[in-house]
Amino acid sequence: MDHATLRTTPLENFPPPEQWDHWEELDAKAWPRRVTKQYSLVPTICFNCEAACGLIAYVDKSDGHIQKVEGNPFHPGSRGRNCAKGPATINQVNDPERILYPMKRIGARGSGRFERTTWDEVLAILGARIRKAIVEGRKTEVMYHVGRPGHDGYIERVLQAWGVDGHNSHTNVCSAAARLGYTLWSGYDRPSPDYENAKFTLLLSSHLETGHYFNPHAQRIIDGKMKGGKLAVCDIRLSNTASMGDYWLAPRPGTEALMLLGFVHVILREDLVDWTFVQDWVEWRAYQKAKGRSETFAAFQQDLAADYAFATPAHVAEVCGLDAALVEQIGREIGQAGSAFASHVWRNAAAGNEGGWATARCLQFVSVLVGAVGSLGGTAGAGTNKFVPSPFSKPRPQDVWSELLYPREWPLAHHELSYLLPHLLKSGRGHIDTYFTRVYNPVWTNPDGAMWIEALSDESLVGCHAVLSPTWNETARWADFVLPMGHATERHDLMSQETHAATWIGFRQPVHRVLAERQGKKITWTYECNPGQVWEEDEFWIALSWQVDPDGSLGIRQHFESPYRKGERVTVEEYYQWIFENSVPGLPEAAAKLGLSPLEYMRTHGCFLVQDQVYKTHEAELPRGDYEVDAERGEVKQGGKVVGVYAGGKARVGFPTQSRKLELFSQTMVDWGWPELASPVYVESHIDEGKLDRQKGEMVLVATFRLPTLIHTRSANSKWLTELSNTNPVWMHPSDAARLGVEMGDLLRVATRTGYYCNVVWVTEGVRPGLVACSHHMGRWAVKGDAVGGNHWQLHDVDLRKVTDTAYLMRRVKPVGAFASQDKESEKVWWHSGGVHQNMTFPVQPDPVSGMHCWHQKVVVTAAQPGDRYGDVFVDTKKSMEVFEEWLAKAHPAGEYGVDGLRRPLHLKRVCRPTDAAFQL
Ligand code: SF4
Repeated sequence: MDHATLRTTPLENFPPPEQWDHWEELDAKAWPRRVTKQYSLVPTICFNCEAACGLIAYVDKSDGHIQKVEGNPFHPGSRGRNCAKGPATINQVNDPERILYPMKRIGARGSGRFERTTWDEVLAILGARIRKAIVEGRKTEVMYHVGRPGHDGYIERVLQAWGVDGHNSHTNVCSAAARLGYTLWSGYDRPSPDYENAKFTLLLSSHLETGHYFNPHAQRIIDGKMKGGKLAVCDIRLSNTASMGDYWLAPRPGTEALMLLGFVHVILREDLVDWTFVQDWVEWRAYQKAKGRSETFAAFQQDLAADYAFATPAHVAEVCGLDAALVEQIGREIGQAGSAFASHVWRNAAAGNEGGWATARCLQFVSVLVGAVGSLGGTAGAGTNKFVPSPFSKPRPQDVWSELLYPREWPLAHHELSYLLPHLLKSGRGHIDTYFTRVYNPVWTNPDGAMWIEALSDESLVGCHAVLSPTWNETARWADFVLPMGHATERHDLMSQETHAATWIGFRQPVHRVLAERQGKKITWTYECNPGQVWEEDEFWIALSWQVDPDGSLGIRQHFESPYRKGERVTVEEYYQWIFENSVPGLPEAAAKLGLSPLEYMRTHGCFLVQDQVYKTHEAELPRGDYEVDAERGEVKQGGKVVGVYAGGKARVGFPTQSRKLELFSQTMVDWGWPELASPVYVESHIDEGKLDRQKGEMVLVATFRLPTLIHTRSANSKWLTELSNTNPVWMHPSDAARLGVEMGDLLRVATRTGYYCNVVWVTEGVRPGLVACSHHMGRWAVKGDAVGGNHWQLHDVDLRKVTDTAYLMRRVKPVGAFASQDKESEKVWWHSGGVHQNMTFPVQPDPVSGMHCWHQKVVVTAAQPGDRYGDVFVDTKKSMEVFEEWLAKAHPAGEYGVDGLRRPLHLKRVCRPTDAAFQL
């Protein structure tokens, strides 16, 4: 992408990139006077969700103030279009209650009392602790726990340089289930649909396209519709996306996988299958062999149809509570769209249900049958539409395994069992010496928040806790250090996401630093330019790693030495300079055409299109080599190991599975104790209709959605976002409201296994009868009297007290409302709810296969009881542990199941993968 290419964008009125260094426009606020202002336009990347849209900061050249933040029209993924959360970055930057300096605790942990400290002191204390743990061989006692990730691979490199097994993520409260379902098919753990060219799109999504994940997707879904494509949305709630659909499917929660098998049935019965694709690219022989059947393709075709003959539209309609004719019609339309069928599931049913991972598996089954894999208008593996360049040094994998991250009960878990950390710690399974939470708020975001409070309060379980966050959060109260990290305009990260059939990189930048450097100033650390002493993780980890190994004797320092200046500490600029010069194909040439270095190119443009029109990567030919080809079986081997697929008369790379084909049958599932789940099946959920006691008033609570204007923790420091969305009532169908005798706005008590919360009801036909739904992105709180806090645009003060040895009651003592601050608009806050916190009342429910927390809750909903108040939250952690033990008993632990004494199959991905030896029990 060069300047000439950039100018072909339809957004012709946007300042041309040649003028970004100096741009003049009238100051809107000075009107009617005509006051001209000079700006430096600095591209960066939004940090408010994973989509990594491009932003442009207008930085006032006179004082370094950011005037506004707009979309970057030249960004290949977002194309200048952002959701509300992108421009709202400026609110986060200017939030009058920001934590601007590093803080350290001065009272007991959890007392809410902190004082200012220095970065030097923070580095010295944390560096010494980590060094001691490493030297003493306690390499599983340092843990980094991420909420919102940034640069792919950056922290993994740091942790592996330290030799610790310490990477924890939020993924098992988010997407781990869907990832497992996709992985079992293709080795790619997430989908990348080509919506723009789809003739039919099917979304199982409660918030992907409602603006949370992937505004770049949302715009392409609409592009596809504008071209005549059809859109079906499966969501038990009428989401924004569903409201744009041609079809809204609201099956009984937990039955979605069966609905998908209904489509499979129709496609098979109507012979709408792309059999050529299936014959070449599906490992159908293993499916036949496992069932003791003939291994001819003709037999397979017949057997497959027979295997899914049970999923008739009539049967599906009965179990799922759908219209049989609709199941028939959608199945047929998907079949007719063929390879131009795009689909996506991420959270939604996958995240809600026991067996939710099977939803992704069944959805991909539909795509596979119609040949819509990696095709124009189909769905590719995300790994083919994402570009992650390599850094200048790669440490060797760690040789230890932390059972706090990957406990043996869930050998197939796609990611760490992150949300069980307090339960594991309190069960005596380990200890953490030094714990980092990074843009992560488990006390509030995770289920069972009171368990987190108890674990983090106990210094024998967590020795030292440092919160790295751009904003105050509930978890910070139980920290020893609160370390302010930058927003989208205050940090470096290299980003890439699977927004469409292309690969690109985007460069997040600290815009004040970029302006200072454009003005010729020499900067050592980014916090010298940011507001207060807000820092960025990239530099923090470099500095901390030097502190851990100052003389290089531990072999750590070498990974943080400059690739350009021997023996000296690498700068953040050099880190990226090396990547842009050596790891991004085409970037050096594109930069040279403009007379720029690769780093200058990225500083100036903020993004680079690596490859456009990426389709059918599985068909790429293998490099020349000495292969054994079995044309009959479509196998390409090397040294007896399958390394590719023989199709169309050529040796091709195939998919990153063991067979290099799409795996309809999983030997891994058989080997690890789940033979009945080896092929795409419907797994009955924990909230299946048959498990509800309707006589007792049980309903399903759907808590897996959010309003599209909200982030998890970080929207509360945006006045614009909070003004847009400031309450999260409980959605209820009019028939249920009539049954319960409640009306719009009445107070409800929603009781879970471990507690209850009180919230008002919103009566709407936009939700399926028999269930309730409540967005989980509201109800931020601070304990009254704490010396440090923030986010009062949305956050209310509470009294949090223990009412028994194990039970807590949280009650709000001050509603949201006008408050005094440097921002005069804080005195105009007109809303007073701020929403209700519900996640604390959810027990953990780890899926026995994927390990994913099953978010849907079996609840009893009643009108409020005497003494209940809006916002009340009650929970008993004794019951939390009981529910944890119940779900634990469902798992199939490594050792009892599995092969070769392994903790986990060697071929299954693992974040920060240790050595093979560490996989041994
Ligand atoms: S979708 Fe919205 S929040 Fe997400 S990166 Fe894009 S602008 Fe930011």
